[in-house]
Amino acid sequence: MNANKRRAIFERLRAAKPKPTTELVYRTPFELLVAVVLSAQATDVGVNKATATLFKVANTPKKLLALGEEGLKQYIRTIGLYQTKAKNLIGLCRQLLEKHEGEVPAEREALEALPGVGRKTANVVLNTAFGQPTIAVDTHIFRVANRTGLAPGKTVLEVEKKLLKTTPDEFKHDAHHWLILHGRYVCKARKPDCAHCLIQDLCDRQLEPVGETPTTRSRKSDAIQIKAKRRTPEKNKTKGAT
Ligand code: SF4
Repeated sequence: MNANKRRAIFERLRAAKPKPTTELVYRTPFELLVAVVLSAQATDVGVNKATATLFKVANTPKKLLALGEEGLKQYIRTIGLYQTKAKNLIGLCRQLLEKHEGEVPAEREALEALPGVGRKTANVVLNTAFGQPTIAVDTHIFRVANRTGLAPGKTVLEVEKKLLKTTPDEFKHDAHHWLILHGRYVCKARKPDCAHCLIQDLCDRQLEPVGETPTTRSRKSDAIQIKAKRRTPEKNKTKGAT
């Protein structure tokens, strides 16, 4: 994909949503960190429901640690993998208190050293809590980057590096949110809504042109095959006669 197309994609995404942000509800870097750890393989809506109650009683490392692993589980048991997440969050709080005076560090290395925090979580926190131009590649961004041709890659790291290299600086900070929202609501995994996609003419995939759905397309292709079958015996007859 050339630079002009890439710029046009981000210009349109920005025009549609000038100030994108995470759909996770948080008020402090610590709340964001906890919410992002909980959001792995879970929906933002589900996480928000759980943290709405949890943060009322424990929204600092000290208070969350005081709940203990079993106490924390009671607040997050509706979220997938909650047992492992509870264990990680307790370890994370302990480490924040022991090594960072209870504050969330703004450095990648320190973040990734926390239990339950990988590169993607660190990228989200660095971007959203500390304003750094990181691009966290999740399943939505991985899909959109590959389908559109923005940053094709076999691994999330490859996609992340390509996005960082090719995204114009002015879009870098918000690229993560625009691409996640686009993947979540338009370029969906099973049924991308190409007919209503605002970057359809710029997308490399172009599987489903405007006005044509998979159903109409398969009907057309069925009709072509039927016509071809009808014609075949005639052709064979002619061939055989010569
Ligand atoms: S045109 Fe379709 S495949 Fe391309 S970005 Fe839009 S929804 Fe996704």
